[in-house]
Amino acid sequence: MAKPDEIMAEQLLKGGKMLAKSCKNCGNPLFEVKGETTCVVCASGPVQTEVHPEPLVSTPSPDQGNRTVVPDTLAKAIGGAVTVLCERAARDPNPANSLQLMQAVECGVRALQVLRE
Ligand SMILES: [Zn+2]
Repeated sequence: MAKPDEIMAEQLLKGGKMLAKSCKNCGNPLFEVKGETTCVVCASGPVQTEVHPEPLVSTPSPDQGNRTVVPDTLAKAIGGAVTVLCERAARDPNPANSLQLMQAVECGVRALQVLRE
């Protein structure tokens, strides 16, 4: 069973776009894949959920505006995916792979920046 961090890292590598929105089910960041917003973690089936033992208590957003309070868990989840990518880059001897990994890291970091704007 893959960890959410690894699933997200994989998705970033495939060119998926990480969004600054969290999944209502698992609290992990949503991805834009082929023009659709999906939760790659939920889509991959049952996952280890030790990261989020409690349901997310996020500020309700009645108007669904895109300037809602961002739960800490979302930032942590993105950070986790970025960490997985960085570790892989450090281990991978192939410079071509490293480049791809670093680009994926950049995507994650950008999502984090959007969160904090
Ligand atoms: Zn989910």
